[in-house]
Amino acid sequence: MSTRQPPAAPAPEDMLQQPATGEATGPVTSEATEPATGEATGPASADVTGPATGKATGRASGEVSERETREVVESSRETEWSKPSFMQELFLGRLRMDLIYPYPEPDPEDARKAEAFLERVEDFLATVDAERIEREGRVPDEVIEGLRRIGAFGIKIPEEYGGLGLSQRAYGRAISLIASKNAALAVLLSAHQSIGVPQPLKMFGTPEQKKKYLPGIAAGEISAFALTEPDVGSDPARMEATADPTEDGDAYLLNGEKLWCTNGPIADVMVVMARTPAQKPGGRRGISAFIVESSWEGVSMDHRLEFMGLRGIENGVISFKDVRVPKENLLWGEGKGLKLALITLNTGRLTIPATCAAAGKWCLQVVRRWASERVQWGAPIGKHDAVAQQIADIAARAFAMEAMADLSASLADDGGYDIRLEAAVAKMWNSESAWRVADQALQIRGGRGYETAASLESRGEAPIPVEQVLRDLRINLIFEGSSEIMRLFIAREAVDPHLQHAGAMVDPDASLGDKAKDAVGLGAHMAKWMAGNAVGYARWPKHGDFGPLAGHVRWAERAASRLARHIGYAMARFGPKLERRQAVLGRVVDIGAEIFAVASTCSYALHLNADPAFELADAFAKGARRRVEALFDALFDNDDAFNYKLAQKVLEGRYEFLEEGIVDAPTRADVDPAEVETFARADLAGVPVDADA
Ligand SMILES: Cc1cc2nc3c(=O)[nH]c(=O)nc-3n(C[C@H](O)[C@H](O)[C@H](O)COP(=O)(O)OP(=O)(O)OC[C@H]3O[C@@H](n4cnc5c(N)ncnc54)[C@H](O)[C@@H]3O)c2cc1C
Repeated sequence: MSTRQPPAAPAPEDMLQQPATGEATGPVTSEATEPATGEATGPASADVTGPATGKATGRASGEVSERETREVVESSRETEWSKPSFMQELFLGRLRMDLIYPYPEPDPEDARKAEAFLERVEDFLATVDAERIEREGRVPDEVIEGLRRIGAFGIKIPEEYGGLGLSQRAYGRAISLIASKNAALAVLLSAHQSIGVPQPLKMFGTPEQKKKYLPGIAAGEISAFALTEPDVGSDPARMEATADPTEDGDAYLLNGEKLWCTNGPIADVMVVMARTPAQKPGGRRGISAFIVESSWEGVSMDHRLEFMGLRGIENGVISFKDVRVPKENLLWGEGKGLKLALITLNTGRLTIPATCAAAGKWCLQVVRRWASERVQWGAPIGKHDAVAQQIADIAARAFAMEAMADLSASLADDGGYDIRLEAAVAKMWNSESAWRVADQALQIRGGRGYETAASLESRGEAPIPVEQVLRDLRINLIFEGSSEIMRLFIAREAVDPHLQHAGAMVDPDASLGDKAKDAVGLGAHMAKWMAGNAVGYARWPKHGDFGPLAGHVRWAERAASRLARHIGYAMARFGPKLERRQAVLGRVVDIGAEIFAVASTCSYALHLNADPAFELADAFAKGARRRVEALFDALFDNDDAFNYKLAQKVLEGRYEFLEEGIVDAPTRADVDPAEVETFARADLAGVPVDADA
């Protein structure tokens, strides 16, 4: 226990005087309290884990500057896109329903093959003991073998390489079905083919590379994606792994350590990101992607890791010591690793919304049954208003999650659409909604929600693993782009069309004269654009196609226009400093996400064309409209600046007195070096060690 004392002055005057409308005054003006710049705001990007960002001011020359990161993000736009992004248009004030309605229909041949595959998946899942995976903390070999047999390791790999050659939508449906049995199984397959070797290989590999690796992978060789390092989470600019050419020029020597690599301990092959030499003298070392076989000398799995949920996944620390990687295994080109990761994630990220939608449906089923059969205080609990409200929210969100996931995947399959933003919004919104839905389902199940499935079964009750689902879902808000990073990425795109007019205003190296000149240009652009969005009235009978949902679509159109005006206002008010206003930008993104969700549910309901679907879309839109109103209210009337300042004081230790009376949380100093273990690869996953040194 520490002996902390409260500060002499309990409440500084300036705190009391801080206006409630923080936005009006901007965050506090002193440097110390100004929101962080740089990575915080950089657009997006990077890794499997999310946007990379990073203002590298003052960092070593090998690191990626904010400007470079922006260039990478910019260049991750795929050149073959011929149709615009629904979200980008929305942020510009235009609700382009024509981009999502009529609802994109699946290719009939793909749909036929998908149905046959889904039947195989369902039959196979009936043989899987999900409780065993949870109990033993690993997926049994026979389950992996069964997945191989049904072709689950090559769902999107073209048939010519031995895969099933199915679409993104079909892939999402299959992974969702599997996730509803056990999330760790879905993560095994997703780490393998959403972000693992086959996806970037399909997109960027040479014909020789594809021929060499895709058939084995389709047949069930397991792959992984290794980007994260102890110091590289959301920010790949800190990457330390290196790949330097050998003297004979035939290979690279890979050195470094990768953290949290899903499938790492059982992977046969992985994509590894590492720094390669600068292209020109004095330049920065770029990040490149390599296909690395885990049996190569110098690759070792140092630890198998354990988590709050997803107990069955194989996830480890991997180290590379002078691993000789043939130059033929460089993917795409030197220095193109970040761009490759970004483009891979454009569609790779769509798996999480799909599995979250499955979790929503599963929770809906659990509460439907339980709230009807559980009687308390003279009625089934679903008849009590407090429970009924939660059930309604679960149903509406489950429908919206499915609409977002399915629509985004369908747009990806349709081709030509810039779906980066839709995928990011669906990932962010669905992961947060699924977490909320599972939390409500646990609450409705009461004590049984908190009890493990095994314990329930031991008492003769249905082994419904709600607490496990909640634990398994939590990581979705962190990996493949954390919620915070997703908001920054999406916000960046929302203001990007305007930033292009800001020129020198956002260039830290520009002269004052240039800044002033471009400020005039930005002002003129904003005035013109705001005028164009001054009227956003969609009135009856517009969008009549949507029948009972037409009112919601008209609202969405007006809300998009209003959002665009607010973005314009925020730009004018904060100028380039808007980038630092993560809370303001977060609300902008949340409003955009809710509007997208309303538009998606309306389009999806029309696609399903059934009254229950219309009712759920209506229910969802009603709730979303209220949330959007609250977000608009708080956009410029909030406590952001006050809270930012308070948080800095927390960090400075001003409120340490409040930590008195507890047992201190462990620190690194509490770790006994003698207790730090290393494991042989064979110990991790029960696989032979073979050539692993
Ligand atoms: C179970 C599991 C599986 C994983 N699988 C893989 C894998 O297969 N391959 C792989 O390479 N990686 C993998 N990861 C790593 C994962 O992608 C990272 O955990 C993730 O990128 C976040 O990085 P971090 O944990 O270091 O958090 P940090 O980047 O340290 O962030 C900590 C917190 O700060 C926030 N934050 C960070 N920067 C900003 C900012 N600029 N503005 C606002 N907020 C910010 C974050 O959102 C987060 O809340 C996995 C992780 C886990 C736990």
